[in-house]
Amino acid sequence: MQKGNISVQTENIFPIIKKFLYADQEIFLRELIANAIDATSKLKLLANSGELKEEIGDINLEIILDEGAKTLTIRDKGIGMTEEEVLKYLNQIAFSSASEWLEKYKDDASIIGHFGLGFYSAFMVADKVEVNTLSWKADAKPVQWVCTGSPEYEINDIEKKERGTDIVLHIGEEGKEFLSKNRIDELLMKYCRFLPIPIKFGTQTISEDVGEGDDKKTEKKEVDNIINNPSPAWKKNPSELKAEDYNAFYNELYPYSSEPLFHIHLNIDFPFNLTGILYFPQLNNSFEVQKNKIQLYSNQVWVTDDVKEIVPEWLTLLHGIIDSPDIPLNVSRSSLQSDSNVRKITGYITKKVADKLNELFKKDRESFESKWKDLGVFVKYGFMSDEKFAEKANKFLLLQNVDNEFFLLDDYVEKIKETQKNKHDKIIIIYSNNKDAQDFQITSAKEEGYDVVLMDNMIDNHFIQQLEYKRQDISFVRVDANTVDNLIEKDEQKESALSEKENEKVKGLFQKLTESKGNVNIEIKPLSPSAPPVQIVKPEFMRRMKEMQSMNGMNLGDMPDSYNLVVNGNHPLVAKKLLSAKGKKQGELAEYFYNLALLHQNMLQGKDLTEFINKSLDMVK
Ligand code: ADP
Repeated sequence: MQKGNISVQTENIFPIIKKFLYADQEIFLRELIANAIDATSKLKLLANSGELKEEIGDINLEIILDEGAKTLTIRDKGIGMTEEEVLKYLNQIAFSSASEWLEKYKDDASIIGHFGLGFYSAFMVADKVEVNTLSWKADAKPVQWVCTGSPEYEINDIEKKERGTDIVLHIGEEGKEFLSKNRIDELLMKYCRFLPIPIKFGTQTISEDVGEGDDKKTEKKEVDNIINNPSPAWKKNPSELKAEDYNAFYNELYPYSSEPLFHIHLNIDFPFNLTGILYFPQLNNSFEVQKNKIQLYSNQVWVTDDVKEIVPEWLTLLHGIIDSPDIPLNVSRSSLQSDSNVRKITGYITKKVADKLNELFKKDRESFESKWKDLGVFVKYGFMSDEKFAEKANKFLLLQNVDNEFFLLDDYVEKIKETQKNKHDKIIIIYSNNKDAQDFQITSAKEEGYDVVLMDNMIDNHFIQQLEYKRQDISFVRVDANTVDNLIEKDEQKESALSEKENEKVKGLFQKLTESKGNVNIEIKPLSPSAPPVQIVKPEFMRRMKEMQSMNGMNLGDMPDSYNLVVNGNHPLVAKKLLSAKGKKQGELAEYFYNLALLHQNMLQGKDLTEFINKSLDMVK
């Protein structure tokens, strides 16, 4: 036996490791397994190059939990270590002022492995760590390194026939949760699911058909329980994979999710290395809940599912895997965004996504349109967030009208530019945010020869603003922002059937009615005689201001709804019937028209509605 001291600058690294990394204790398993994978991959390289003379044999990793002995063993059949290597690699924690460093990065346990500290994370859960190892080298002697969490270690001679390394963790009080099979299962699933070498954890019983014909029967069999998929789809060549394979992999990642709309296989070597598959999920209009489903891997080792520093926010609607050893994990999170590799990766993914959408659109426009409900949210989100994407999006960004026809923006402008241009030469796009509630206005607009697009997603308010900002020749107006004659400001004015004096009289009638209703602005307008006698409109600008304020959480007090009441002076019921009515009748008639207008806007409710219905019935009587 031989004794020595681990060379660290600071007196004792272990209390520091325990203290600062405690929050993320569980990563010890990932670190030790990653080391085991490394050692095994190196052995494969030696075998391929012919340096390893013997048969490589079974190289699966094995995780062995012994609850009775309170040990957890990570076993590999990789290159192992000679005594000299043990002393060299395990005893030197190669950094200065460890405590300072750990203090600085204590929030970021994911970086441990990248500082040559991975192995020591074992001491977060173990009171004693044994390393039993036999090097692949000819004539190597097996050796044991034991350390109880103080800077003292022991080196012993041991018996070990198989090449490779066993890391035996004697789990202490602080790590006792890791003596549970379920907990280990959970960690293996999280960190090791796609590691490149099969990992065995216990056994599993399977049923197998044996024999032929009448002798055929089902037998139960114990087999190794392999917890990982060592060759996940993203590591394969796209030409090897069919659509079913991509869907099956999606299902493996997110069981019970609906089938994705499409996928993008990422694969690039230069100027950075990145592989992965991104899926476009069915959003079902609820994109908030779907976020944070992209997982980041580094050479098939799970790193994080919090990718917001690497992937721009609008792309986090996508699901799937990004695997890149070139994403630096050894810098603080805030500086990640300004890292040039990360920016290039973002650019690459954005371009791939745009190209894919363009390809889908060109290949099968009809199918693209049928998915627009989901795709539209994403494309619009991207359009607003990323200049480069916005440029490309012009080739597949669609407007959908209330008749379910789809148009590229430029085509749409072409379609409406004659009929929907205002006197300032602006193209006016008329939209509805609720096809049912605005049916009357939509119908009137269509009768007028206008087209109405649907903008009924929560993202559309922002999208409209952005589009107007980017395309100064376009302006949006909601279908209920004005009476149909005035939706598009034109020069022509209809002649009025009312005299100035009659105008004032009608105005007075409605003013009296709406006095108690707050902010109602009465306008008497010479509209077409077939337009309703009285309408409620909500001017675009005012409405948008209000929407913006409530979105920004501004306190509007008890400010009542403000709207315009437009009375059609040319409607015969106004020009003749209302004006010629006598006494009480006149006020009742005005109220009836007003209530009808409120009904149109779904604004007649409660007692007012009951009263209106009762009065209407009386009238019929
Ligand atoms: P890192 O893996 O970042 O280099 P570690 O502290 O995790 O840092 O490991 C230190 C070194 O110990 C490794 O680089 C490797 O040479 C050696 N080592 C650790 N685990 C094993 C193992 N299972 N088999 C062979 N060598 C190992």
